[in-house]
Amino acid sequence: MMKKLVKTALLSGSVAITLLAGSSATMAAEQTYVSIGTGGVTGVYYPAGGAICRLVNKKRKETGLRCSVESTGGSVFNINAIRKGDLEMGVAQSDWQFHAYNGSSKFKSAGPFKDLRAVFSLHAEPATLVVRADSGIKEFKDIKGKRVNIGQPGSGTVATFDVIAKAYGIKRSDLKLAAELKSSEMGKALCDNKIDAYFILVGHPAGLIKETTTTCGAKIADIHSPVIDNLVKSKTYFRYASIPANMYRGTPTAVKTFGVGATFVSSAKVPEKVIYEVVKSVFDNIDSFKKLHPALKNLKVTEMVKDGLSAPLHSGAIKYFKEKKLLK
Ligand code: GLU
Repeated sequence: MMKKLVKTALLSGSVAITLLAGSSATMAAEQTYVSIGTGGVTGVYYPAGGAICRLVNKKRKETGLRCSVESTGGSVFNINAIRKGDLEMGVAQSDWQFHAYNGSSKFKSAGPFKDLRAVFSLHAEPATLVVRADSGIKEFKDIKGKRVNIGQPGSGTVATFDVIAKAYGIKRSDLKLAAELKSSEMGKALCDNKIDAYFILVGHPAGLIKETTTTCGAKIADIHSPVIDNLVKSKTYFRYASIPANMYRGTPTAVKTFGVGATFVSSAKVPEKVIYEVVKSVFDNIDSFKKLHPALKNLKVTEMVKDGLSAPLHSGAIKYFKEKKLLK
């Protein structure tokens, strides 16, 4: 009796497995797991990725897609992980999307990543220098001789820091300390007077900057000078930006700076139907998406389909955008 029962259970188990594997014609019967590489948990990439997954997972029963987010070092890490096939999608700064696709700058030794695909663009990311009120730093050039967190390894932040510093003729060794703490640790380091400033390219408002400006009265310095004018003029992916007055405590006037765009990227190796469903989940529900984080509030669909996208669009994104006449 016992034996028979076990046998029946095994049999029905194997039937169930065969059924699942056999119905590959419809995506709904399969489970497809996809992961989005983001950034530090106190930044904007992480909640933005979470917002995308939330909308994708709402349709899980219908599409079979299960989306999860990973907290990572940031843009450069995400692009490299997509290239290796460790992640299906990721958020990346527009400047590093450009360099990865073209095999330039930091991506020179790796060579062009021709399978990199743009999906859509997200929020603007102004270069932001958060400083202690007693630091004496008013402008980017004042970081010489100071203790500065320049961004964690794998971040777009530290990669772009090096580009800006080079344009100013500042070397890492010109700083008293060039720290590479995680974005979740640097606010405390600033308020504990372990560093004078931290640099980050991030959407606004960002949780971590709200925290430092309220906890220890930190200020935001301008990054605005003839050096920056030259950078903005010479690179298509840089543009002027400002951080609105009173967005953060202690910042009564708008901060003048420049920046890049946050973009959502993937690989040509990720199936068209997957990216199509992800794009559809976000764009069909764009009003709810914009409400999921204050930095997403000002997104415009017409800009999201083109701004800051230098790698070719993924075929799944093209399919959706054409269907909705967002693309010719
Ligand atoms: N732009 C940053 C980077 O790639 C990440 C910002 C964020 O986490 O929101 O390093």
